[in-house]
Order: sequence, then structure tokens, then C-alpha cells
Amino acid sequence: MTSSDPISTTIPIRVLYIVGSGRSGSTIIANVLDQIPGTVSPGELYYLWDRGLIGNDRCGCGKALRSCELWSTLIADTLGSDEDPSAMVRRRNTTVRTRHLVRVFFGRRNRQLRAFLDPTARVYRALSERTNSTLIVDSSKVPVYGLALAKHPAFDVRFLHLVRDPRAVAYSWQRKKDSLAGNTKRLMTQHSATKSSLMWTGWNGIAQLLWGRSHRYLRIRYEDFVAAPQETCIEILRHAGNPDPDLSVFTDATTVHLEPSHSVSGNPARFSTGNVSIKSDSEWTEKLARNSRIVTVALTWPLLLWYRYWGRS
Ligand SMILES: [Zn+2]
Repeated sequence: MTSSDPISTTIPIRVLYIVGSGRSGSTIIANVLDQIPGTVSPGELYYLWDRGLIGNDRCGCGKALRSCELWSTLIADTLGSDEDPSAMVRRRNTTVRTRHLVRVFFGRRNRQLRAFLDPTARVYRALSERTNSTLIVDSSKVPVYGLALAKHPAFDVRFLHLVRDPRAVAYSWQRKKDSLAGNTKRLMTQHSATKSSLMWTGWNGIAQLLWGRSHRYLRIRYEDFVAAPQETCIEILRHAGNPDPDLSVFTDATTVHLEPSHSVSGNPARFSTGNVSIKSDSEWTEKLARNSRIVTVALTWPLLLWYRYWGRS
């Protein structure tokens, strides 16, 4: 397919779009799904243009993105010199951020949005073709970006709403962690319990309101995935249109064998390969400071109750 092909006259690109708060465990779930035949998890494609093509961060395969065999040829063949990544970042930032929710929701005509989504669709299409995948798992989580993809005729989007205890999320945002995305040490973004909790409530609330009643929506608690990873993967893949997935990635009930992925951005867990044990991370129950706990519960309690996190330590 060339960049001039009409993208809306072919079969829609099926995308499982993960929504919810950051630090909710989407990276490990996407990593596991990436190993399922017919499925590819390219990480957080929202950040392809800045962190990937401009920043040249490391791909999940370990190479700088512009040196990765998949992405370097895919971008060159799909976009050529027609699209400047800086222009794509400008278009993205003026069309699909949270502040653009109302405009995207009501589908108002927007030339800038179309100029961002058409080349984006060509990238997803090429990714699907080159990896022989009928399902792309995009863990970007940015709600308005997911909404915009769903409204574009090139895409068939199903939503996976991943939620995690907000106190575990707050603890994760406070930890100092190397992103492993660059050649030198670069810490992942950190947030206070207040900011983490406001984001948790905001992004989960938007996902709930936008898609909670849709047949395209499935909500999973990260804690339930960790407790029963195989069963949860089957549920997710059925929702995404794969009723009989090959789960040979599991070497036993809670262990997966991961090959390198070609993920653009995400938690450093995306670089994990070999046999990986899926287990609960409950460090927060002992190490999250009391003040942070109080702030988190105060700012998240309606959805914390809704998602049945009340009463956990
Ligand atoms: Zn790669």
C-alpha cells in the first residue's frame, strides 16, 4: 500500500485501545498480548512522533527507533518525506489532548485533526500488514486520542479499560525509576499523590463516561489479571474479536515467555524478555506514606468504591 491509497475503502484496522490511568499495568498486559499470534502491541503510539521519531528513544527490541528494522523501514515506506514528525506533534497537540474532548466527541469538522489522523492510519495499516497482525494493541491511554481513532473510518476500535488500585498507582508514580528509553539514565516522570489521584479520577472517569455502556468496552482490574492471567487474556482477546486465541506464550499458569517487542513507548517492563512471572506487586501496602494514602482515598473515593477497592490494605 502506498501513501496515496484511500484508507477508508479497505477493511478497517482493528485496534484494542487501552484506556485508564498511567501506571495501571498496561505494559505487561500489552507485552503478553504481543506474543499472541495475529496480535501486535506497539506500545503507546500516541508518542510515536515525539519520543519515537524525534527523540529516537529505544524500541522494545533494544535499538534506537530509527535503527529498528521494523520502524525505520515502515516509516520510510509509509510516510516518506511527506510528513515531518514535528508537524505531526503540532497537529496532535492541537487536536487530541484532553482539552479537545468536546470538539472530538461531537465530531466537528477539523482539517488539522484529519491531517493528523490520515498519516496515523497509514502507519497503523502498515504495522498490521508487516507484522501479519489482525489486531493492534495500543496502550496510549490518552482518552481523546482513542476517541478520535474510533471516529475515523479507517479504524475498528474496541476499548480495554484497565483499572488499578489508586494507592498502588500513587506509589508507582512516586518511585524513582530509569525509563531505559535513552542511552543515558533518564528517570520516568514522577507525580505527587495529589496529582496522581486527580489524573486517576479524571482519566478513569472519562473512560467510564465515554464508553462504559458501549458493547465495545471491557473493564478489567489489574489485580484480577495478576490473579488469573490466562483467563483474563482469553476474556480480553474475545472482546477484541479473537474467540480462540493461541496462549502458548504461557509456560505455566502464571509464567509467560516473552520475545522482544517493537514497542514505541511505555514502562521499562516493555524490555523484559525470556520467562517472566506475573505476580502481584503489593509493595505499596507497606511503603506508601500515610499522608499519601489519605490524599489518594480523599480524591478517588467514588471510583475507588465503584471498582471495589474499599477495604484493601
Ligand atoms: Zn524495534
